[in-house]
Amino acid sequence: MQEKRENVLLGKLPSLELEATGFVENFIHTQIREDLKAGRNEGRVHVRFPPEPNGYLHIGHAKSICLNFGLAKFFDGLCNLRFDDTNPSKEEVEYVDSIKDDLRWLGFDWGKRDFFASDYFEQLYAYAVQLIKDGKAYVCDLKPEETREYRGNLKEPGRNSPYRERSMAENLDLFERMRAGEFADGARVLRAKIDMVSGNMNMRDPVIYRILRAHHHRTGDVWCVYPMYDFAHGLSDAIEGITHSICTLEFQDHRPLYEWFIEQLPVPSRPRQIEFARLNLSYTVMSKRKLLQLVNNGLVNGWDDPRLPTISGLRRRGFTPDSIRNFCERIGVAKRSSMVDVALLEHAVREDLNLKAPRYMAVLKPLKVIIENYPEDQIEELEAVNNPEDPTMGSRKVPFTREIYVERDDFMEDAPKKFYRLTPGREVRLRYAYYIRCERVEKDANGEITALYCTYDPETRGGSSPDGRKVKATLHWVAAPTAVSAEVRLYDRLFSAPDPGAEKDGQPFTTKINPDSLTVLNGCKLEPSLALVSAGISVQFERLGYFTLDKCASLSEKPVFNRTVTLRDAWAKKAGKRK
Ligand code: ATP
Ligand code: MG
Repeated sequence: MQEKRENVLLGKLPSLELEATGFVENFIHTQIREDLKAGRNEGRVHVRFPPEPNGYLHIGHAKSICLNFGLAKFFDGLCNLRFDDTNPSKEEVEYVDSIKDDLRWLGFDWGKRDFFASDYFEQLYAYAVQLIKDGKAYVCDLKPEETREYRGNLKEPGRNSPYRERSMAENLDLFERMRAGEFADGARVLRAKIDMVSGNMNMRDPVIYRILRAHHHRTGDVWCVYPMYDFAHGLSDAIEGITHSICTLEFQDHRPLYEWFIEQLPVPSRPRQIEFARLNLSYTVMSKRKLLQLVNNGLVNGWDDPRLPTISGLRRRGFTPDSIRNFCERIGVAKRSSMVDVALLEHAVREDLNLKAPRYMAVLKPLKVIIENYPEDQIEELEAVNNPEDPTMGSRKVPFTREIYVERDDFMEDAPKKFYRLTPGREVRLRYAYYIRCERVEKDANGEITALYCTYDPETRGGSSPDGRKVKATLHWVAAPTAVSAEVRLYDRLFSAPDPGAEKDGQPFTTKINPDSLTVLNGCKLEPSLALVSAGISVQFERLGYFTLDKCASLSEKPVFNRTVTLRDAWAKKAGKRK
């Protein structure tokens, strides 16, 4: 494999061959390979993942993480974790910690290479001073609305600021005094002196430093001037010796500026920016601003609400790191924006859990069944297979008793022809147990069904009849005396609109929340082995879906299980019906 990879690097092997090993090459690999062949960067590949610590990571970030760490691995290079913490008013330590936690959980290791743009504040300041000395930056006193007006727009060129021709000495003095705190917030800015008539708005003398009195999560109150993102980002890349700066498409128009700063300054390396399309996922919103709004307005229960596309939400919902990484691998990396169907993410977790998750029986809406001809105090231990997809997962014992629970939905008193499950006079199979026949129904004063009276056939132990008698349905069940009571939270997509963030109809995305995105069921009955499952482990409840024990549930209290996904895609069926 190693040798093969080297051959690919040198361009000897067509990537098709590597594809046969399960790897999909994208256009970024091709560009990096070209750089290597041309002998750039002394043959090094060094990338970074640069989150801004102003929110939790989401599945879109996972795409960028898999891409960057994946490139480092593929090219035997390095990947830094760099916090782009240049905006103190929105950033917090809580976010830094959660980002590291999520990265680790996803299975990525940055070694000791975690850095902060704020570590470079002194160096960045020195670079700004250098630009002033070279006549390439000036202090501007225009008010924000004047700056906007001078800037022009896509049709009209901008005009030079009246402060553009200040002397170098005056600029140096003013910039120093900006740093010293002599001026009010927003009173002055430092701008790069580039080109006010450029067709690219980003090149019209962009602001590179602003005055802002805000407490920074790492540098405290040391600074009252902060570098702007475009200035800090590329130079931080250069300081770290990054060779390829991979970012999303909206930065394409910023690339000339990225390159401009690097060309003007005596930086230790010359990174190359490459853009790719960000991940958009249907039935969800991904912008941190919108996620923050959902969290702050209490529309969800925190950043790790299992309905959010955040990594911590997906984790709490029961998604596995493998399923997320497989999903990111499968959607690929392209130059053009598109919307990925969330069903693909759900498919990835089903596929992963189908092989890994042990199966259990749980009854979510219990209906008591009394088996009249079964001995009253008897408990039988029946053998149940843990995962038919994987014999090495073995089997377990499930208790069977005279009183059991079945799913309310598996019984109908006046059943239509196509209903094959339990109904008076009908025989069905209980999974791993016996055939039972429904004899009669017990009701309360309101006519509500309270219990079913059934008989069982002792000859059908294990679930088949020696006389070859067939039944059309197999039901899951739980023995009543040994059942564990639990709360089960059925999660569904948070939005009922495919593209809630677009707000094309003028309605804010918050009006498109799916009213059925969370259903809480109490009094669910679980087979006793489920009491031994620990938080974060995924299981299948037979016939119902994949579930995971919520982190809030300690074993001594009543357990809470979250539904990860149903066994099949119910939304596809809905969409099919609508057609
Ligand atoms: P948002 O727009 O959601 O606020 P952001 O781009 O401001 O996200 P950052 O913390 O700056 O978030 O992102 C860190 C890295 O992750 C950047 O390189 C960014 O390009 C990448 N990234 C963010 N969102 C996505 C996405 N949806 N798909 C792919 N990469 C993304
Ligand atoms: Mg950003």
